[in-house]
Amino acid sequence: MTKVKTTTKKSPATQTTQKQYDYDVIIIGTGPGGEGAAMNLAKQQKNVAIIERHHQVGGGCTHWGTIPSKALRQSVSRLIEYNSNPLFNSGESAKHLTFQDILSHASAVIRKQVQLRSGFYNRNRVDHILGEASFVDKHTVRILRKDSSVERITAKQIIIATGSRPYHPDDIDFNHSRVYDSDSILNLEHAPRHVIIYGAGVIGSEYASIFRGLGVKVDLVNTRDRLLSFLDDEMSDSLSYHLWNNGVVIRHGEQIERVEASDDAVVVHLESGKKMRADCLLFANGRTGNTADLDLEAAGLKADGRGQLKVNESYQTEVDNIFAVGDVTGYPSLASAAFDQGRIAALAMSDDSSKAKLTTDIPTGIYTIPEISSVGKTEQELTEAKVPYEVGRAQFKHLARAQITNNLVGSLKILFHRETKEILGIHCFGENAAEIIHIGQAIMQQTNGGNTIEYFVETTFNYPTMAEAFRVAALNGLNRLF
Ligand SMILES: Cc1cc2nc3c(=O)[nH]c(=O)nc-3n(C[C@H](O)[C@H](O)[C@H](O)COP(=O)(O)OP(=O)(O)OC[C@H]3O[C@@H](n4cnc5c(N)ncnc54)[C@H](O)[C@@H]3O)c2cc1C
Repeated sequence: MTKVKTTTKKSPATQTTQKQYDYDVIIIGTGPGGEGAAMNLAKQQKNVAIIERHHQVGGGCTHWGTIPSKALRQSVSRLIEYNSNPLFNSGESAKHLTFQDILSHASAVIRKQVQLRSGFYNRNRVDHILGEASFVDKHTVRILRKDSSVERITAKQIIIATGSRPYHPDDIDFNHSRVYDSDSILNLEHAPRHVIIYGAGVIGSEYASIFRGLGVKVDLVNTRDRLLSFLDDEMSDSLSYHLWNNGVVIRHGEQIERVEASDDAVVVHLESGKKMRADCLLFANGRTGNTADLDLEAAGLKADGRGQLKVNESYQTEVDNIFAVGDVTGYPSLASAAFDQGRIAALAMSDDSSKAKLTTDIPTGIYTIPEISSVGKTEQELTEAKVPYEVGRAQFKHLARAQITNNLVGSLKILFHRETKEILGIHCFGENAAEIIHIGQAIMQQTNGGNTIEYFVETTFNYPTMAEAFRVAALNGLNRLF
């Protein structure tokens, strides 16, 4: 356990302050938001403490969210590849893995991540304090440790990076052994043959891919009328088709009425009168900011009905010395964004806050099977705004690299302005889409006329690569111009 220092290290912040604090900055939460802030503040020579109530660092991102779900998906994706490649599996019965089998790989990755991230705090001399934090006032935080002892520490500034948790409606019994949320699903002890997933957002769709890839029957209940409606329609339609083609039963525009859980099954009743029976329910419909235990009023703060905090573009709350980053501030609720928000908040707290600007074009990475990634505008947004755009497409099945790796499902679409040729949006569907998109993102962010589609036809790409999709799509798009 880290001993809390009561003296202040020399730093510009405390030298100029009348009142002496234990720390320049206290951060609550060691997810990507807290870590991004801590590392940046440490580089600014600030005296920083980070408080975490879980026994290991890494946040929900490492323990319950991004990392385990991506590790599970990777195992399932390799299993599918193995079973579908005649070179490895010629006529024998398909290899079978259970959810528990693939969880062991996820646990190994989590262990490595925790080790790595603990090292960051140690090397950068950030004090890691284990305990539950709450506010005493706007400069003082109370820490309740596991042994029930209580400690108070003070700081000039505080960052709330406490993340979010799955939303639990009151009338569903999440203590029942057949009812899970996206955190508790990682404790699944039996091997279900049939799962109902309620909520077809990113988390629900990703878990639908994972379970279906393991050969489990999946009913995916969508409260909206199309899957992931924030995506370009073609991407959303492609996902619907592939989940359907793989045997996932998708029910759109439905609302849960009640859940009946017994010793041998769970029955979900929908408001439309339909009912479904399965071995378990994964409820993945909404998240709530982790603010209920923070005693926010003591610091002069108030969360909204979803437990989220309002911040300005520097991630400063309504109380000027308190900042908030990551899921606790709501949209986009991504680990990628949380890390950057932490960095921006740390810069905004410094004397030179001129670099404190978050890039607005945050890419989307959805690790369904197949994967989806996009950056910039959708066709629907450009049409609505009456922008004269053109489309360039490349199909993975025509690329040598995709043929070699046997990843033939997928496509890349570039949307560009037909007069200036400026890239306006990039949408990728298929294996490694989340990696591929970054090539286009880098060009999109060029300034002084450097962000045009012509870059892709004037540049030599390694061959064979998936990056070649950009060249093929650019040629396809430019050929449409007249
Ligand atoms: C299943 C799933 C899959 C996801 N996949 C992706 C993905 O592929 N890509 C992506 O970018 N994002 C993904 N996300 C979202 C991503 O995990 C979150 O956006 C990210 O973790 C938010 O980071 P954070 O720092 O705000 O909070 P968190 O990572 O949740 O960390 C918050 C930390 O604060 C601690 N804490 C809370 N309250 C207190 C307190 N009072 N005292 C002390 N400590 C406290 C918590 O224990 C936790 O460790 C996924 C989420 C889920 C659930």
